[in-house]
Amino acid sequence: GLYEVVRSYYGRLFQMEAHIERLNYGAQQICLHTTDFSYLTEVCQTLLEKNGLLDKDATVYIQITRGVAARLHTFPGPDTPETVFASVQPFKAKTEQMENGVKILLVPDQRWARTDIKSVNLLPNVIAQQRAVDAGAAEAVFVRDGAVTEGSHSSFFAVLDGTVITRPRSNYILAGITRQVILDLCHQLNLPFEEKSIFQEKVYDVDEAFISGTTTEITPVVQIDERTIASGKPGPITKKLQEAFGMLVE
Ligand code: PLP
Repeated sequence: GLYEVVRSYYGRLFQMEAHIERLNYGAQQICLHTTDFSYLTEVCQTLLEKNGLLDKDATVYIQITRGVAARLHTFPGPDTPETVFASVQPFKAKTEQMENGVKILLVPDQRWARTDIKSVNLLPNVIAQQRAVDAGAAEAVFVRDGAVTEGSHSSFFAVLDGTVITRPRSNYILAGITRQVILDLCHQLNLPFEEKSIFQEKVYDVDEAFISGTTTEITPVVQIDERTIASGKPGPITKKLQEAFGMLVE
C-alpha cells in the first residue's frame, strides 16, 4: 500500500497537487488498478471542514491498499477495489526544534531499493527512528554506500561554502515535496544549490545542515552523532530558507 501525509495551514492544503501526483506515481509503480487519485483533494477538504479544522493547523493522512482479498502472493483480480482511507487531525509544529535545531543519528540504510515509492512498509524506518530517539536524536538519517540518502521521515540537506546540497532524486530517496519547495526557494532567493551525494566522512564538517518534510518543515541540524555542526546553532542559510518557507505557508 501507499500513504501520504499532507499539511493543512488554516484550512489550506499545502502542495496538495504534488502529493496527489506522488500518490499517482506510486500507484503506477505498484500496479494498482486506480492510478488517478485526484478526487481525494475534495475529500480531504471536506474532512477538514467537517472536523472543524478550517481555522487550525492540521495534517491529513491518506492510505491506499490493494483491497480486501484472500491471502495470496499475487495481486487480487481487477474487480477488487482498493481500500482508500483518509483522516485528519489537529497539528502542532515542533517550534522548539525548529528554532534551536536537533541532533540526528546516522544509521545504515537497510531499506529496499525503491524508496522513491511512499510505501506503507516502514519497518526499517521505524526501527531506525527508535534507535535515534533512544540515542537522544530527533531523526535517523540513512547512509548507503558511504553517502547520506535521507531521513527516516525527512529529506536531508547540507550547506557547504554557501552552496545548499542535497542528494539527487533516484530510486534511493523519496522525492520529498518539501525538498522540491526548498530547491525552488533556493532558485528564487539566488542561493546556489547542487544535487549531489554527501559522504558520511565529510558530513560532520559541513557549515550547516537541516532536515525537511511535511511535518518537519525546515528543521536545523546542529549535531550529527556525537559531533557538533559548526557553531552548534542554526546557520544563516537555514534560517533564510525557514523564513522564506514561513512566508509560503502564511
Ligand atoms: N523521505 C522520507 C523517507 C519520508 O518519509 C518523508 C516524509 O515522510 C520525506 C522524505 C519528506 O517528504 P515530504 O517533504 O514530501 O514530506
